[in-house]
Amino acid sequence: MNERPGVGNQGVLLVLSAPSGAGKTSISREILRMFPELRFSVSCTTRPPRPGEVDGKDYYFISPEEFRRRIAAGEFVEWVENYGQFYGTAKKTLDAFLAKGGDLLLDIEPRGAKAIREQYPDAVFIFIMPPSIAELKSRLEKRGESAAAMECRLRTSLDEIREALCYDYIIFNERLPEAVDRFRAIYLAEKSRRDRCADRVAAFFR
Ligand code: 5GP
Repeated sequence: MNERPGVGNQGVLLVLSAPSGAGKTSISREILRMFPELRFSVSCTTRPPRPGEVDGKDYYFISPEEFRRRIAAGEFVEWVENYGQFYGTAKKTLDAFLAKGGDLLLDIEPRGAKAIREQYPDAVFIFIMPPSIAELKSRLEKRGESAAAMECRLRTSLDEIREALCYDYIIFNERLPEAVDRFRAIYLAEKSRRDRCADRVAAFFR
């Protein structure tokens, strides 16, 4: 039995972060489609759903009161306040999957990723980078937000990019298919690590 969570023959815990405008959602959508055994960790948030978002699939949309109650009850493995809204990962979601040997993808921002690193040292941390500041600006402009909102997003994005070097892997998303390929390669390599295959090797000889 392993004493540390996320170590040994348990599943791969992938932690993905990226500033807005880096193309993270397109990459993770494609990866989740390719690997049905890789499950998406559905976070809780107090922000209202965007058009097309589904409760229980994209997020668990809960009230600020309920979010605070869950913080007080110690139900989150990590939580942050971001853009004036709360976001958090439930401990239950994470431990249930890992105990079963499942693989889990967390899409969280860098402060949350740091908290996960402390509690799950064998998690795999991937950061998606936009190819350049000019390209990041142009992608953010296409969202059609006000100049002030865009300026704020750009500043937050640049702050998040400063955290990139704390991650295990960095993917520059110049072209989506190549970025997806790199993500896929990282995932498969991590699944093939000796410590994650030890049980299977032992079973081979039984
Ligand atoms: P959005 O509101 O655009 O869906 O997400 C805003 C940011 O919150 C993104 O960077 C996303 O990765 C992050 N985020 C989503 N869920 C969580 C979570 O459970 N914990 C943390 N720390 N960040 C989250």
